[in-house]
Amino acid sequence: MLPSIMEAIVYFVVVAAFGLIALKAKTIDFWGFVASIFIGYVILIGGGWYWFLIMLIFFVITTQFTKFKYSYKEMLGFAQEKGGVRSWPNVLANGGAAAIFSIMELRFGGGIYAVAFLGAVASATADTLATEIGLLSKREPRLIINLKKIVTAGTSGGVTLVGTLAALFASFIIGITAMIFNIITEASPIKILAIVTLGGITGSIMDSILGATIQRIGLCEKCGKITENLKHCGKLTKKLKGIGFVDNNVVNFLSTIIGALIALALFIIII
Ligand SMILES: [Zn+2]
Repeated sequence: MLPSIMEAIVYFVVVAAFGLIALKAKTIDFWGFVASIFIGYVILIGGGWYWFLIMLIFFVITTQFTKFKYSYKEMLGFAQEKGGVRSWPNVLANGGAAAIFSIMELRFGGGIYAVAFLGAVASATADTLATEIGLLSKREPRLIINLKKIVTAGTSGGVTLVGTLAALFASFIIGITAMIFNIITEASPIKILAIVTLGGITGSIMDSILGATIQRIGLCEKCGKITENLKHCGKLTKKLKGIGFVDNNVVNFLSTIIGALIALALFIIII
């Protein structure tokens, strides 16, 4: 059901207030702020307060872990750029699928989009935590498609034990929250917890697999650095591997969709 004008205004004020807090705390930049308002507003209108709260939990957990030991990650050279401040591509990559499922919930309803939404948010949380905690691992990461191969920290497709455990923990937190908020009434709380946790961890594993296979890797012809960024030294890099438009954000978005579909499939199988 669409909100009344009054509700729509209240929603906007709430979303903008949280957005401003995030902007002030330098967890997002201006365009990240605009994108966050858009995503938050769509989720609030489509899914309601509990959906919005779950997205907020994702945001708080991931920003805290991004800032955690930031200077150490920076020293390694693999911290998120710009002090961990996220911009719009990152916001859309992590929240886009969740917003799409919120619109579908508004349009069609019926509980299954809530499952997809939770799978997507669990994947985004799991993947972000796996990366941020994985960077702190004492042991070197191994390539997910060839575990005998050791790669440098920060390489897409590289996995660590501690990062994988963090992904499991993140998915579990989103699952527990979904249980507490009683978002899905069609299945028992324990089943919901299992579905969301498995969806999240699978999405996060898919993120590594896609990162190791289709993600674009380029060479900066100016400084010779091999990078996952499209641009380096202000110039487009030369593609060495992967699919042209598939950068880290595209991989993130795709894996949240996969996490959602896995959660949905499990829901249909075990309900
Ligand atoms: Zn360069």
